[in-house]
Amino acid sequence: MSDYKILITDGLDERGQSILRASASVDEKIGLTAEELIGIIAEYDALVVRGQTRVTDPIIGAASRLKVIGRAGVGVDNIDLESAKKHNILVVNAPTSTTVAVAELAFGLLLAVARDIPRADVAMKQGEWLKKQLEGVELSGKTLGIIGYGRIGIEVGKRAAAFGMNVIVYDPNVTEDELGHSDAEPVSLQDLYAWSDFISLHLPLNVQTRDLIGPQAFSQMKDGVRIVSTARGGIIDESALLGALKSGKVAAAGLDVFEQEPPGLTELVSHPHVIATPHMGAQTAEAQSRAAEDIAREVISALQGESVRWKVA
Ligand code: NAD
Repeated sequence: MSDYKILITDGLDERGQSILRASASVDEKIGLTAEELIGIIAEYDALVVRGQTRVTDPIIGAASRLKVIGRAGVGVDNIDLESAKKHNILVVNAPTSTTVAVAELAFGLLLAVARDIPRADVAMKQGEWLKKQLEGVELSGKTLGIIGYGRIGIEVGKRAAAFGMNVIVYDPNVTEDELGHSDAEPVSLQDLYAWSDFISLHLPLNVQTRDLIGPQAFSQMKDGVRIVSTARGGIIDESALLGALKSGKVAAAGLDVFEQEPPGLTELVSHPHVIATPHMGAQTAEAQSRAAEDIAREVISALQGESVRWKVA
């Protein structure tokens, strides 16, 4: 074994831990405060996180030995990438590990907003039989608009096609050639808003996409549209969504991500036509095991000076 020391701060599936332990000494310390992390980070060559640890500039500044930060999952918005770059620290993630898990949750939310399955279950548990009130709609024959046709968007599109949906997509970075082999038709964002019965978001949050789904977007959508987001909080303007739910413009929304997480019992979360889940898109046993294995291999490669597959910064 080498002298490398690795710190895990958000937990890591056993499969990843055993890969790390075969090549380095590993400490797992969950729930550290920023001050505690600053106090010990100088001992480590690598830091492995999920989404909870905020790897800020002061932490990176104190990490005098750190060579690599590994994110066991996709989103790196909890890591100060500029600071990592400035301090010559590599940041790697595991972007393909959670694709199917998120796509399946998005599809689950599409079915849930079509049939209001959660309300039926809550009523049953209160001894109520809401059969007549719970008339939903079918996915078959409807148009699904996918915004962001990358890894997850493509998987959602395949599942929607299998359910007999007409799939249209908007993604400024995907060419018609790339779309040629898929079941999806590329359209402008305006056409996607105008034609979709269901909309599912699979794009990143950045300065261009913050509040993309706001009052102007809602005004271009069909009355009674149903929206699902498993992408990132902040892409939907939540106060505009609440207004659109109240007016009936949006019939139902399925949300796994929020502007603030956890959001608490907000008016949006409590709305009867909102189905909310706690940012659990990647929370499957298979995805967590894959993410841990992928990130462990990336971190060891980085420490040994070998090439990495998923360099973020
Ligand atoms: P990806 O990079 O493979 O795909 C994202 C796509 O969005 C790309 O094709 C890109 O061209 C497109 N895009 C960028 N800007 C756009 C814009 N303005 N309009 C339309 N499309 C745009 O990423 P992915 O792995 O498919 O992940 C998609 C989203 O899912 C990300 O926001 C990610 O953070 C989120 N995610 C959520 C969870 C969860 O637990 N809910 C887990 C993993 C990922």
